[in-house]
Amino acid sequence: MFDLRELYQEVIIDHNRNPRNHYAMNDASFQANGANPLCGDKLTVYVQMNDDTIESVSFVGCGCAISQASASLMTEAITGLSRAKADSLFDNFHRMLTTDDESDALKLSKLDVLSGVRAYPARVKCATLAWHTLQAALAQDNRVISTE
Ligand code: ZN
Repeated sequence: MFDLRELYQEVIIDHNRNPRNHYAMNDASFQANGANPLCGDKLTVYVQMNDDTIESVSFVGCGCAISQASASLMTEAITGLSRAKADSLFDNFHRMLTTDDESDALKLSKLDVLSGVRAYPARVKCATLAWHTLQAALAQDNRVISTE
């Protein structure tokens, strides 16, 4: 199908093996469950808000390396951001994964390591699952969010 080695760069491997903020949060302000049936990825994302600031975020789940590494990278990227800034970061991240827009490509810091996913459209859902689940948590949407 495709050569995973091209995707599995060092940072992705590291975040998959040693995911950051990987725990169930007992006092979460919000949480949501997400699933990507095509790949079998499942995540629960927990968010602790302080007014409009994402004070901390964590996740648990199982699935492919892309989905787990992306969730881990997301928790690091959005901690301390406002909701609006987290939303715009997701917009940029999604654009990076779905277009060839290298121009502002995209000042995403570590999220850039997932740019190789662009070449594998089926994996975009793996990489964005954590973000869609985060949005559901912030919207207090209690359904299981599915990429399908
Ligand atoms: Zn996956």
